[in-house]
Amino acid sequence: MKTELMTLPYAADALEPVISRETIAFHHGKHLQAYVNNLNAAVAGTAFETKSLEEIVLSAEGGMLNNAGQILNHNLYFGQFCAPKEGNVPHGRIGEAISAAFGSFEKFQEEFVKKGTALFGSGWVWLSSDAEGKLVITQEPNAANPIQRGLKPLLTFDVWEHAYYLDYQNRRADHLSALWRIVDWNVVEGRF
Ligand code: MN
Repeated sequence: MKTELMTLPYAADALEPVISRETIAFHHGKHLQAYVNNLNAAVAGTAFETKSLEEIVLSAEGGMLNNAGQILNHNLYFGQFCAPKEGNVPHGRIGEAISAAFGSFEKFQEEFVKKGTALFGSGWVWLSSDAEGKLVITQEPNAANPIQRGLKPLLTFDVWEHAYYLDYQNRRADHLSALWRIVDWNVVEGRF
């Protein structure tokens, strides 16, 4: 089936000032659209034409894998945000699991931003759960996704420069720290 560009669950300016309308326009409207176009062109007439994004990520190689991975990653990324909130912290089951795994929400935030900032080049930092439901933070290069390690992805910050350069230039850590204000923890808990 043809992969479609995901529809954002908020207006293009809803995440300001954490992520600008201009960044959304390029990141969602240009970068993600290009991955969608590239994947549709690559799978046309192949056995992958009828596969899901997850199936392609788990079985394809080369350009097809990279484009499918980037679409899967960006769908999870853009789907997890909401308008900025002060004191935005996780509650319920996901909040308890984060405290249990990392000591506190603050310690989790610190480790997540540290791993995102330290990732060399382009990639993604992820919160995932393993087969036993234990939470882990992983760094994935380029277009990789935790499903390739048998993990269930819950939350991700994109550390490709295209995600923040217009708004934060080279200040990756500032960008990652600002993202906590717009994480929709209901969405993250729904994935858990
Ligand atoms: Mn991106």
